Amino acid sequence: MITVRHLKKVFKDSSKELTVLSDVNCEIRKGEVISIIGPSGTGKSTFLRCLNRLEEATAGHIEIDGVDILDRRVDASLLRRKMGMVFQNFNLFEHLTILDNITLCPRTLLGQSKADAEKRGMELLEMVGLHDKAGSLPSELSGGQKQRAAIARCLAMNPEIILFDEPTSALDPTMVSEVLAVIRRLAAQGMTMAIVSHEMQFVRDVSTRVFFMYGGEIYEEGTPQQIFDAPQKPVTKAFVNRIRSLNFRLENRHYDLYGMFGQIETFCSKYGLGNSRTMAVQHTVEEMLSEILPFTGPVSLDLEYSEKTYGLSLLITQENVSSPVLSGCDSDSVSLKLVRGMSKSVSEPENGLIRVEF
Ligand code: ADP
Ligand code: MG
Repeated sequence: MITVRHLKKVFKDSSKELTVLSDVNCEIRKGEVISIIGPSGTGKSTFLRCLNRLEEATAGHIEIDGVDILDRRVDASLLRRKMGMVFQNFNLFEHLTILDNITLCPRTLLGQSKADAEKRGMELLEMVGLHDKAGSLPSELSGGQKQRAAIARCLAMNPEIILFDEPTSALDPTMVSEVLAVIRRLAAQGMTMAIVSHEMQFVRDVSTRVFFMYGGEIYEEGTPQQIFDAPQKPVTKAFVNRIRSLNFRLENRHYDLYGMFGQIETFCSKYGLGNSRTMAVQHTVEEMLSEILPFTGPVSLDLEYSEKTYGLSLLITQENVSSPVLSGCDSDSVSLKLVRGMSKSVSEPENGLIRVEF
């Protein structure tokens, strides 16, 4: 249904250029529910806006049902009729009633009669649970109700695909689920949708495929199981496991141990990790650096905490070491026993890396 090839978008102003999309390639088939996730500022909104030509692509091809929509001869308004878009901030006309918001475009653009448009409008309001709000103004509705009205308005144009740009992120948390319930229902009815969302549980439940956007491209894509349970690439892993990290690089033996202790304590208290884990990390760092590692070159320490699994790991990398060792110390050394006692596990060194789990 939609094929995107080498889509590129560069924002230019007088002084600088910003490449937001460098090379986006994908296909969206009829009936698919595609979720687009990724850190903010990676171009998710820009991608959706290029799809329906609210934003002009710098280069590349977007084909919809075989028509290249970047061809200037293609009428953008015809295209937008095929594609509905639901925005974070609803974009309802504040001076029109909910029903008038819904019937405006079908009447003016599709030439529907007032009676037909209102009949269909009421069916759609029924479907999104707002039958009794037809005569209300948007200002009389809650955020969740406004967003459901915006979805009904979008459906009134009989789109072939709906693009959602963070449909719940402007909502009070108590109203998120009523909007997600409506989107779930559309998915169950086979509506083709592309959804930018930070609601990970929802994304997991509702999507046929997930695109993880990073660095101006679709960095990794797969089924929700592949992306959330077995991501292949490092940035995807860090994102889905919500990994927070603290990093040190020590050039030589003259490192500031107590300065590091302070930073570890701040990091651990920020994520509520508790005293015993904090002290275990500190003592492990001390033992590793003073007794266990041969200090032959720079050493990197990465403390990683997953807000998803609550796992805390310390990764110790010895640079310039071809076959790293816990040398200067056999496996029975007191220091190593101490570290094993304080942690859940200590990995065998591999490619210069030792991983300690707490
Ligand atoms: P996301 O939706 O993933 O958070 P966006 O697509 O909104 O990301 O934005 C990606 C980047 O493009 C951001 O750095 C943003 O500041 C920039 N950007 C978005 N729209 C414009 C614009 N109209 N002019 C210049 N820069 C823009
Ligand atoms: Mg955005």
